Amino acid sequence: MEKKYDVIIVGAGISGGLIASRLSKLYKNNQKSEKNKLRVLILEAGEDRSNRPELVETYLNAANKSPGSPYKIPVNMAPSPDGANDYYDQSEAHDNNQFKSTYERRVGGSTWHWLGNCPRLLPSDFKSNKLYGLGEDWPITYDDLEPWYCEAEHEIGVSGDHDELNHSFGAFRTRPFPMHRIWPSYSDIQISKVLKNADDTHKAYNDLPLVLVNTPQARNSQPYNERPVCTGNSSCVPICPVGAKYDATIHIEKATDKKNRVDLISKAVVTGIQVDPETGKIATVSYKSWDDKEHIVAADLFVLAANGIETPKILLMSRLPGNNDHIGRYLMDHPQGEGVCFSREPLFPFRGPPTTSGIDKFRDGAFRKDSCAFRLSMGNDGGGRTLTSGAVLNEIVADSFGSKLKSELNQKLTRLFRISFLAEMRPLYNNRVTLSPKTEKFTLGIPVPKIDFTVDGYTMNSFEKISAVMQSILKTLNPVGDILLPNNQSEHKGAGHIMGTCRMGTNKTNSVVDRECRSHEHPNLFIGGSSVFPTVGTANPTLTVAALSLRIADSIKKQLKLIS
Ligand SMILES: Cc1cc2nc3c(=O)[nH]c(=O)nc-3n(C[C@H](O)[C@H](O)[C@H](O)COP(=O)(O)OP(=O)(O)OC[C@H]3O[C@@H](n4cnc5c(N)ncnc54)[C@H](O)[C@@H]3O)c2cc1C
Repeated sequence: MEKKYDVIIVGAGISGGLIASRLSKLYKNNQKSEKNKLRVLILEAGEDRSNRPELVETYLNAANKSPGSPYKIPVNMAPSPDGANDYYDQSEAHDNNQFKSTYERRVGGSTWHWLGNCPRLLPSDFKSNKLYGLGEDWPITYDDLEPWYCEAEHEIGVSGDHDELNHSFGAFRTRPFPMHRIWPSYSDIQISKVLKNADDTHKAYNDLPLVLVNTPQARNSQPYNERPVCTGNSSCVPICPVGAKYDATIHIEKATDKKNRVDLISKAVVTGIQVDPETGKIATVSYKSWDDKEHIVAADLFVLAANGIETPKILLMSRLPGNNDHIGRYLMDHPQGEGVCFSREPLFPFRGPPTTSGIDKFRDGAFRKDSCAFRLSMGNDGGGRTLTSGAVLNEIVADSFGSKLKSELNQKLTRLFRISFLAEMRPLYNNRVTLSPKTEKFTLGIPVPKIDFTVDGYTMNSFEKISAVMQSILKTLNPVGDILLPNNQSEHKGAGHIMGTCRMGTNKTNSVVDRECRSHEHPNLFIGGSSVFPTVGTANPTLTVAALSLRIADSIKKQLKLIS
């Protein structure tokens, strides 16, 4: 078979996009000439070139607004799994044992409907086993990743307040953010004020005040990289109407610019990678196009960046020699929940992105030996998922009209407020992705992922404490009516953070990839994305994914002896 490509990347999300964009600028044979530019192929299961205005229109017209509602489901082909049970084989599991996070299957991946929060992991998150007996330590430290965090923040465009976050829990920063923070919302300012004066709340937490800090986020606070400033529509999940929020189509477009030698084949569902028995190296990748035709392409080096569900699925379908038992194991998410109330004074939500500030205080401490760390987000989007503005509107409209209707709207919609939490969970050996015996017509006869998942006592037993913290904060707003908290101790939602499943470590007895994200068994195979995380801390994962992806591109540059 003719080898047309140097590198093949599977998946056109942020990981695949950043790696492709970096590789597109590199040359081989020590010569900077057109013919020595690296030849790269990106294979993507979903559709290409989504039309933003059309997607926004579909979202506006959708009766049921969900993270998947702007994205039309193509007939006969892999839809993005909007509801977890649309696709995953786990329908018999009890609700608390269901993996609830899904992803977007199209060029750009889940960054189409992500929120864009970009905190870094903390130094302690990389060594939580040593410090707290929690999970497995990363084979790299915060210091190793710090320069790549800075580079990722500049590459994707993150707005944040450097001084406020510098050295928080030891997380030093060597470069400011490329853009100042997104301005705090009116409710951020009011809540900061009431928390300052809330003596009881201080006492409950060892006299340490609960302080709001800025949430760094991948949306423009000023024009950046030829993209506009956030217009505050508050609809980032599921779609930014103006493109102020970063999404990975930006790097896919940069990579596939006609000056480069990068091809993108969309509607190409990868079914496996194959080893050359003579060299023992990965030699080819097979895929099915949406017309059900099979294809095989060869290259020197391969990157799987198809996310924490699909990357292990591809590896398991490939039945590679080496048979690494860790593939698919230690699946994790950040279990989430909300506290909601109507504040006594109006807070005027629905302006700005869904969150601009949070409370970091519970992200680290000796308590992590016994109970999980968590981060709190202050909402700017009314009652969040618990009490949607639609539900409140329906209730008001059913009960009133005329001047009463106007007054009720003013009273209620201006006072609706939520806090949400995002909790750490432990990596559990039996939380895993395997191949289901079921195939669905929309997956071209390819097995769907079977998921076994549970959140253990380490996290579950902390929910009561987290609810109590949320309640004490909401009480400072002197709320009208009840404070709504999760109904029972075990209720939680998925964060959309699909992590674990191909974790990094020191050797193949404890992991799938090494500290460079290179397969232990197959040195010409790299894995991009949060599937390589050994533990998850309390940072939304994508900035770390971006930092690791830029680092992977650098490792590939060294391994293939490329020049820039
Ligand atoms: C509602 C929601 C909100 C979120 N908010 C945040 C946030 O605020 N902050 C944060 O850090 N993270 C957030 N996330 C998570 C974030 O979206 C992901 O971490 C990130 O997008 C993952 O990028 P990726 O490139 O690793 O994977 P993906 O974006 O999943 O990209 C992988 C690509 O591979 C393709 N693919 C899959 N299988 C195959 C195959 N067999 N062959 C070829 N291609 C394949 C997929 O179609 C996809 O395009 C959120 C997620 C959701 C769902």
